[in-house]
Amino acid sequence: MEEHYFTCQCSDFNHLVRFNLSELDGDVYVDVRLNHYERWYKRIWIAVKYIFKKPHAYGHYDCTLLRVEDYPVLHDLLDRSKLLLKQADDKRAAEWALKKSQDNSNCA
Ligand SMILES: [Zn+2]
Repeated sequence: MEEHYFTCQCSDFNHLVRFNLSELDGDVYVDVRLNHYERWYKRIWIAVKYIFKKPHAYGHYDCTLLRVEDYPVLHDLLDRSKLLLKQADDKRAAEWALKKSQDNSNCA
């Protein structure tokens, strides 16, 4: 698994994100950290409300503003992911075509 860390423009460590590229199949995973904005007892109350699907005013989102200098790294990672995914698709299609031709030759 290839890992790349991207720091937010604000430099807050809580906004750090990690992109993982699987060299085996080309999948990309994005890891984000969930912040602890409230005290523990308030987070329990938020969790209880979440379990019972009570709406929260602003949701539970945060953001990372990528730095421009990281764009080429992320672009390269996504390009390689796309290539690996296409190679995996091509391999599956070739295997399927081979199996189909073998099945047809067995029937004849
Ligand atoms: Zn930030």
